[in-house]
Amino acid sequence: MEETYLKAAQIISGSGYGVALSGAGMSAESGIMTYRDRGGLWDRYPEGGKYGILGLIEKHPEDALAIIRDFIGVLKKAMPNAAHRALVELESRGCLGSVITQNVDGLHAMAGSNQVYELHGNIYRLRCLSCGNRIELAKDEFFEMADRVIGTTFLSLDAMFSLIPRCECGGFMRPDIVGFGEPVQDFEAACEEVSICSWMIIVGTSGMVYPAASLPYLARENNAFIIEINTEKSKLSHLADILILGSAGRILPLIMEGIGLDDESIPERLSHSKTRQGISLKPRITKRIEKGGVRHEC
Ligand SMILES: [Zn+2]
Repeated sequence: MEETYLKAAQIISGSGYGVALSGAGMSAESGIMTYRDRGGLWDRYPEGGKYGILGLIEKHPEDALAIIRDFIGVLKKAMPNAAHRALVELESRGCLGSVITQNVDGLHAMAGSNQVYELHGNIYRLRCLSCGNRIELAKDEFFEMADRVIGTTFLSLDAMFSLIPRCECGGFMRPDIVGFGEPVQDFEAACEEVSICSWMIIVGTSGMVYPAASLPYLARENNAFIIEINTEKSKLSHLADILILGSAGRILPLIMEGIGLDDESIPERLSHSKTRQGISLKPRITKRIEKGGVRHEC
């Protein structure tokens, strides 16, 4: 085994508190396109990089419907990959304290991670525009609703929201994902996690989207050891003590081998977990929501 992998394994299996920060690259191996890569959502629809999906619907409803159809189709097929499962195993072994993610796909929770901070929200959750009430949807409930939305033609955000069930208070509900310029969720709690961590593992994030990209800097200020796994160098790579270039689904299991856990044994252990018993089909979401007023900026 390469020395770099062994060194990463030693850091992770040490006694210090560990935190993972994941981005779109983490979900890419689950079939969810990365936004900024060639062929990704923002590559095909550059305006989306500025306005987000909700902004695109507002500006170009016909294109937005195609985007949503694509995205929903991909979500339906997406399952947690080996990298998600490796983080679950590290958490269950007491090596990893929490996962902080920019992803809205709920895959960390579906894989079985218990402590997940979703900075950009969760697509399987609705939020009331009037009273702020939040409802978590089971996957089948979500896709039933999504099919209703994409099976029709809508010309505005209001028209789309009118197809989503109303809140108990009578208010319109919208998907609880964070659009560009909107406040991120869980940021205060994420900063608390980062400020106490001894090591951070960065997986599949470009480091271009703030405030998420500020977290490795905070870790660094607190003298945390930083391990980065990305397919290519990122804006955060200069902070990393260990940088491993390649696919997280291949590399994380190799690091697990370095701490005495081989990839082969992971699915077997998970087969006894709640995930495989079907309990976690409804994504488990952290209860600490939107304490910070920090905005999601590109
Ligand atoms: Zn309400």
